[in-house]
Amino acid sequence: MHKLIKEIIKSSELENQLTAKGWLRTRRDSKGGFSFLELNDGSCFESLQVIAPDSLENYQTEILNLHPGSSLAVSGQLKKSPGGEQSIELHAEKIEVYGFSDIAEYPLQKKRISFEKLRELAHLRARTNTFGAVTRVRNCLSAATHRFFQERSFYYLNTPIITANDCEGAGEMFQVSTLDLSKIKGDVDYSHDFFKRRAGLTVSGQLSAETYACALGRVYTFGPTFRAENSHTSRHLSEFWMIEPEMAFADLDDDAQLATEYLKYLITALLNECPKDMEFFDNRIKKGIIGELSKLVDADFQKITYTEAVDILEKSNEKFEFDVSWGIDLQSEHERYLTEKKFNTPVIVTDYPKEIKAFYMRMNDDNKTVRAMDVLCPGIGEIIGGSQREERLDKLEERILSMGMDLADYWWYLDLRKYGTVPHAGFGLGFERMVQFCTGMENIRDVIPFPRTPGHAEF
Ligand code: ATP
Ligand code: MN
Repeated sequence: MHKLIKEIIKSSELENQLTAKGWLRTRRDSKGGFSFLELNDGSCFESLQVIAPDSLENYQTEILNLHPGSSLAVSGQLKKSPGGEQSIELHAEKIEVYGFSDIAEYPLQKKRISFEKLRELAHLRARTNTFGAVTRVRNCLSAATHRFFQERSFYYLNTPIITANDCEGAGEMFQVSTLDLSKIKGDVDYSHDFFKRRAGLTVSGQLSAETYACALGRVYTFGPTFRAENSHTSRHLSEFWMIEPEMAFADLDDDAQLATEYLKYLITALLNECPKDMEFFDNRIKKGIIGELSKLVDADFQKITYTEAVDILEKSNEKFEFDVSWGIDLQSEHERYLTEKKFNTPVIVTDYPKEIKAFYMRMNDDNKTVRAMDVLCPGIGEIIGGSQREERLDKLEERILSMGMDLADYWWYLDLRKYGTVPHAGFGLGFERMVQFCTGMENIRDVIPFPRTPGHAEF
């Protein structure tokens, strides 16, 4: 049902004359001399029921030729429907057809289409219940993100999409170049390239966010992120959106606190603002998701160190595909064991071995672990990765060198430590992982409008 109409019902001014526009979902012809049309305009989950009498001048010529997908404007009277408890219907007095839809060819028929198949129809899947709901959830979580940070005096920062820094040091950058690489034999001389250096799409806005946090105090980014990792999992995209808050004068405890409040804020907003969409996910995608999310709002998140996590996993008697020992990067199966079986609540794992974490994380006194944190959630595993940043110039230089990186490339980042350095911390939340978590959708490709994954960039 159209959002606007919802408002009208609230103000209970039925018998209202109005025009509703949208796309036809179904048409059912009754023997009583009229047709039921289910009209959806995407503004909210429900469709509007239209009664189209055969007295309409275009009933025989047009209405009886309306098939799913066609677009209409219906003018008439809004009335309480006789059968339904609170439902209403629009009694059409005039129907204008914008565009017909070919029943033989329209792919979105009544029969259920798999999400895989829908990915090949990405231009039409927005018209389905699932993708309508996913898109409205994304919108709600985006708006709530801005509200959350704005209420806490964080400034929204736009960081570069094209950059020369591989911030995560994982070598997973897409290259950006205007050189015709097919014409170059041997080594590429990047001094002839557009930026006179090798450049790529950003894997994280963090280093730039640190720069501004060390000037404005609190900032956050919300932008696209690109990773050329060849992973074919249900939790990885090549292009995804990340929210990265960064706080000056803050340590890892502040960071964990912020992450916890943020997750709870998003869930609260979603449950309040998208009840119909969430009802759909609960009924059709993941039973009990509303209950699980509600529980989380009051839950205490478990906090353990990496060393404790490894200990728990080693003693668990659980058969893992990847063996556990101190020093490994926790796999998704390990993360899920911790949150789903061991603690049954989100888990914040801190103080990871330096070997498996990025160069900018603050070294602990043991010289073996860094002040990192991952927030793990049931059903999905890592949803947030963060850390307290190394603010000590000598330690940071030592770390950059020991990782075989070039100090000269980071001169500007090092400057932040030379001129009035401060303890600071931040994290990155993968927006699509959050949408997955909140909707129960199995595959991350199905929570973004146009997914980019290895081999897929159509539309
Ligand atoms: P993972 O170990 O799950 O691959 P990561 O440790 O590489 O993730 P970070 O560099 O910590 O990820 O990025 C911060 C957040 O961004 C992650 O916690 C996750 O929510 C999200 N994220 C990372 N990689 C991807 C991806 N390829 N697709 C979607 N979201 C991602
Ligand atoms: Mn991570």
